[in-house]
Amino acid sequence: MKDVAISELFRKLPSVDELLRSPDLSDLLSPCGHKAVSDAIRRVLDHIRGQLATGNLDPRGLDAVLSVITHSVRQDLKSALHLSLRRVINATGVILHTNLGRAPLSSAALDHAAEVASGYSNLEFDVVTGERGKRDIHVDRLFRELFADEDQPQAAPSQALSTIVVNNNAAAVLIALNTLAEGGEVVVSRGELVEIGGSFRIPDVMAKSGATLREVGTTNRTRISDYERAITENTRLLLRVHRSNFQIVGFTEQPSLAELVALGRKRGIPVMEDLGSGALFDLRAAGIHGEPQVQESLKAGVDVVTFSGDKLLGGPQAGLICGRQALISQIRSNPLFRALRVDKLIYAALEATLLAYVKQDYDAIPTLRMMRIPVGEIERRANAVLAALLRVSREDSSWIFSLVDGRSVLGGGAAPAATLPTILISVRSALLPASEIAAKLRSADPAIVGRIQDDQFVLDLRTVFPREDALLIQTLSSLITG
Ligand SMILES: *Cc1c(COP(=O)(O)O)cnc(C)c1O
Repeated sequence: MKDVAISELFRKLPSVDELLRSPDLSDLLSPCGHKAVSDAIRRVLDHIRGQLATGNLDPRGLDAVLSVITHSVRQDLKSALHLSLRRVINATGVILHTNLGRAPLSSAALDHAAEVASGYSNLEFDVVTGERGKRDIHVDRLFRELFADEDQPQAAPSQALSTIVVNNNAAAVLIALNTLAEGGEVVVSRGELVEIGGSFRIPDVMAKSGATLREVGTTNRTRISDYERAITENTRLLLRVHRSNFQIVGFTEQPSLAELVALGRKRGIPVMEDLGSGALFDLRAAGIHGEPQVQESLKAGVDVVTFSGDKLLGGPQAGLICGRQALISQIRSNPLFRALRVDKLIYAALEATLLAYVKQDYDAIPTLRMMRIPVGEIERRANAVLAALLRVSREDSSWIFSLVDGRSVLGGGAAPAATLPTILISVRSALLPASEIAAKLRSADPAIVGRIQDDQFVLDLRTVFPREDALLIQTLSSLITG
């Protein structure tokens, strides 16, 4: 097409100012801001010009495009201003799903974080003396309360525990090793050199901390004598790492914590344990075995333990370092502590989460609640969802819904073999393969993430909040009715 003709077509386009004044767009100016709206208008106009210039838009179609131009601007603005981080309905049955944000927070944690962070706070301010305070105290007191030994209410000062908080457990391991073992050796069993998802590898963290790894034993068997033989005058630490996401079964051996602690005491070397998940709650009550409790390690005499805030604890992302006061204050004085410290939002959410533990209000913590939901309750909700789906699909025999027995998992690198019985909603279609059903539900708003098991798409309500059931039904209904 000739240039003259194109510029004539361009002249038919409204100007940015004309569109800004259009009553169809005026309601957007105040909520979205003048600049964002004009930018969206420019993008839409540029797009139309580009299409005309390249011949991708037939000039006879221009009037139709212009008749919906304000709609196009709205669409453009919507995608430009949308938030990338969005809510997802987790119907995978994986309670601590790292890709879906691990532990959902309790409402008390969120309320407290909102109150503390929406204004000023006493984060590092002692309101009694008017002087500078320490941010650590806000959660240290609650950990002391939780870890207080009922058998020994008046622990000797040398036994006193304290806890500090860093950004995550990887940071906790890094700063603890750097403080306690830089330039020296750390003895660790070959069977515990774990890699957690997202490439956290103990040997790599150790290298960054400036400590040297002394591997002992074999993958499946390590004896206390292996540790003892590896000790030299350069040994700074005996390290135990919880095998978070794998198990070694069969011909295996591992010294008990008590043996490791006794060896450490005998040779004057501290013992550190990276617990990974670190449960504060006795999970055996929920039918989960093999996941160590933080209190047990401390009681066994481990000098320093590290664990995550957003795994089994059910709080915000954080790394907790707890142990003998003298060692913890050494770690606290490491300049890395300033680099790895956490924000008031985290302290607030963590403090409120710990308070629920102190009050033994376990149902207030969403992850603990999910672990403890009776399977009968899941079945009752699954039946209600099933009934709704059957009603909606009455006219369409291509859909098959049913309830099947299944297992939910803890996830987040906790008790790999520990699963909980559940009831799954199976969703099948004669027309859509399971992967297609999964993809369609992922692109819904909010996205619903289920899992595929035996070629069937299944939903596990254990990890769906009861308040989300109606939305789940609504989204599935739209899928069914096309
Ligand atoms: C999960 C885990 C970590 C890492 O914890 P983050 O809080 O994700 O940094 C480290 N060690 C073990 C044993 C773990 O299970």
